[in-house]
Amino acid sequence: MAPSSRLPLVMGNWKMHRGGPDGADLARAVLAALGGRAPAGVEVVLLPPPTAIAPVADAIRGTGVRLGGQSCHAAEKGAFTGETAAPFLAALGCGFVLCGHSERRRLSGEDDAAVAARVRAALAAGLRPVLCVGETLEERDAGATEAVISRQVAAGTAGLDAAAAARLEVAYEPVWAIGTGRTATPAQASEGHGTAREALSRGLGAAAASAVRVLYGGSVNPGNAEALLSAPGVDGALVGGASLEAAGFAAIVKAAAAVRAVPATGG
Ligand code: PEP
Repeated sequence: MAPSSRLPLVMGNWKMHRGGPDGADLARAVLAALGGRAPAGVEVVLLPPPTAIAPVADAIRGTGVRLGGQSCHAAEKGAFTGETAAPFLAALGCGFVLCGHSERRRLSGEDDAAVAARVRAALAAGLRPVLCVGETLEERDAGATEAVISRQVAAGTAGLDAAAAARLEVAYEPVWAIGTGRTATPAQASEGHGTAREALSRGLGAAAASAVRVLYGGSVNPGNAEALLSAPGVDGALVGGASLEAAGFAAIVKAAAAVRAVPATGG
């Protein structure tokens, strides 16, 4: 496979933590650990809870660190108590939004159709959707990993044109590895990424698919980041728990920049 020219992307998903003034504190601590700005050779995105987006935006302004939302609703506005519309995220300076994180699929009942609608809403608002896919342990044990990833990618990207595909990111997150401390091996990660990229190629065409970054997520930490980020086909990391600790998250970011500073082997 040809070396990847995709810029590595590391995202910190704070989940429902640091939603008050402590969100800006964490953003400032991450920046300090990074030496004041995003390092060259890697894109860094923080995903705070909606209540902390504005203060985090202030804290990171002009540093190259970017901002995103953890979810968006499919509608632009309306009677959807507690939800966040994609244009609201864009107005606060977000450039990205997760769509179909497994916690949303499981806890909020987002099925493939709902996730696809959110991908479209994100694109319409000018955001880069991060389509999250991945199998549960039961699905893996049943030999359905490939089918699940392929189905979720196909459903989430159905009908997207090349311009939309150019603004898409995908995160392969085996559900059994999220928040469990149990990580996929680099080989398992590569396999999942290969499946996701094949599904992208089938749906979007090989050229458009080759530009899409596929991130690995699932208990990434400073100790395993280098091995996972070096795995063929892995274009970055979606980091949950470890993104709440500034020094550790910064170490993962630096690992991503260092791994791709030498020619990558992933396609
Ligand atoms: C996530 O929230 O997407 C995630 C991968 O969490 P963790 O790193 O804690 O497993």
